Amino acid sequence: MTVTISKIVWLAFAIVWFLMRMRPRRHARETPVRYSARDGREFALLGASLTGLGIVPCVYLTTHFFRFADYPFIPALSYLGIAVDLASAWLFYRTHRELGRNWSVSLDLRERHILVTTGVYATIRHPMYAGFWLMALAQALLLPNWIAGPAGLVGFGLLFFGRVGREEEMMIAAFGDEYRAYMRRTTRVVPKLY
Ligand code: SAH
Repeated sequence: MTVTISKIVWLAFAIVWFLMRMRPRRHARETPVRYSARDGREFALLGASLTGLGIVPCVYLTTHFFRFADYPFIPALSYLGIAVDLASAWLFYRTHRELGRNWSVSLDLRERHILVTTGVYATIRHPMYAGFWLMALAQALLLPNWIAGPAGLVGFGLLFFGRVGREEEMMIAAFGDEYRAYMRRTTRVVPKLY
């Protein structure tokens, strides 16, 4: 394992993630939105996440901008990063399959929106966000740089904490007691803990 391979692995997972999103995006476009809580704040949070998970690491890979923040490469961290990235890819695969046409990049409710509470949604309410946390953690493990590594955790962290409460309020407004009961028997992203 070398630092170059580690960087290529990060890039390969970013491409896999992008490809995995193409089909859901197409499906989503075909299902009309009946209510949306998208606003300027959502737009800013999505921008923060994209910056931390995509733009900053791409700048790091293609320029010498953040070189001053490099630290010595540790192969064991990189191997761990690959394992974490594989777990995140599995979660993305499962959640996109299970959410199906109910998926959205932001806070939307679609026509005939169905509350999914089975499969990976049976124990945690936000398994896709759990996948993003793992993806951000893998980035920190794969890129030996104090800026590009943790940027995903910061960027996605802003999106997660800025959105998750509002998303749950939106789901309660739409599904009422069904979602409240679902909240009682699940945690947000870490089974049994949070
Ligand atoms: N927070 C979820 C979904 C992310 S996609 C996760 O992390 O897995 C965001 C959209 O999914 C939201 O706009 C909301 O309408 C929808 N959504 C969230 N939880 C859902 C659920 N349990 N069933 C159906 N749709 C859900």
